[in-house]
Amino acid sequence: MTKMFNQDIVSSFENKETPFYYYDLSLLKNTLKQCAEAANPYKFHVHFALKSNFNQQILTIIKENGFGADCVSGGEIKKAVQVGFNAAQIVFAGVGKSDTEINYALDQNIFSFNVESVQELEVINELAAAKGKTAKVAIRINPNVDAHTHHYITTGLDENKFGINSWDLPLVAETLKKCAHLSFIGIHFHVGSQIMDMNVFKSLCIKVNEMQLWFEERGMPVKVLNVGGGLGVDYQNPDKNPIPDFKAYFKIFNDFLTVKPHQEVHFELGRALVAQCSSLISKVLYIKNGIKKNFVILDAGMTELMRPALYQAFHKIENLSKLESESQISYDVVGPICESSDCFGKEVALPETKRGDLIALRTTGAYGEVMASAYNLRPDIRHVFSEELS
Ligand SMILES: *Cc1c(COP(=O)(O)O)cnc(C)c1O
Repeated sequence: MTKMFNQDIVSSFENKETPFYYYDLSLLKNTLKQCAEAANPYKFHVHFALKSNFNQQILTIIKENGFGADCVSGGEIKKAVQVGFNAAQIVFAGVGKSDTEINYALDQNIFSFNVESVQELEVINELAAAKGKTAKVAIRINPNVDAHTHHYITTGLDENKFGINSWDLPLVAETLKKCAHLSFIGIHFHVGSQIMDMNVFKSLCIKVNEMQLWFEERGMPVKVLNVGGGLGVDYQNPDKNPIPDFKAYFKIFNDFLTVKPHQEVHFELGRALVAQCSSLISKVLYIKNGIKKNFVILDAGMTELMRPALYQAFHKIENLSKLESESQISYDVVGPICESSDCFGKEVALPETKRGDLIALRTTGAYGEVMASAYNLRPDIRHVFSEELS
């Protein structure tokens, strides 16, 4: 087990202004390598979901490793293009694409629009016609598969706003046939995020098989099967499981998905590729002993890492200044922001903690830095890369 932090790394943090996101780039590169090595034997295509992390340096490394880009806004497409992702490897999802965003994506000749409603098909057709272009579209289908994850990050149930429900598919097929400026390339799914139960992906495969048959029976060849992302990571034991089991993950799709020779299988992974390579590093400002509780008050808050406040997410908390210590005290670890939800963990067992100690919030590479806000007029978020440590 290689730990993310040792005494040398912690010492090199001492003179840096906190809070900041620390990125272990060698862990990132190893993760990307293992993912590619697990996907390549099956010729699976993996796109990185930019919404989980759009740090320039991180994106550059991901692009250099051959991954495509999964974007959910015009801004993300722009960023992907700037970083140098190949337009033929950029896909665009999102339940509310604006005309400006669609026009921009058409100008960039992206690989495909993952379309989420009949009305959106009509709008893309109209905007493509005005440019004399044909837009490639995949239909995002709501698979009605329960991701068994937190309800805020479940997206694939009938009650969610994402995708097209199966009962609307006849209208979709009819619309596609009418729209001369759309080219139907395939079907797209995304069940949710932080999925640890591989049976969820098995259920998804069965759904995808059913759906591709539906289209092919109607004379609409399905070239691309896009199964989305959602593979989870071990938030409890980041040092023990720094890299997800990509082999087991891709094997499920190889075993249960019906793929014909002319078809391509696409994935859109976010969290699984970047979550573990980063920790948010913060300094203890104060220790406050209440009647029933001890509080550790950090210089990082929900403005730097919003996941705990937003969906009760767990991040492992470590006192880096007391790596060797054994005795533990229970603390509520909170931020400085004027909100009661600005709390990173209740009753967290930590060594006796003092003002000035360095604290790491682990597994913050996905949906961390990207969600930083200026609320309370907080300064811009900082980051430090392992390769620039002295
Ligand atoms: C968020 C998102 C992803 C990535 O999800 P992860 O859980 O980070 O892998 C993939 N596809 C779509 C359409 C998304 O919205």
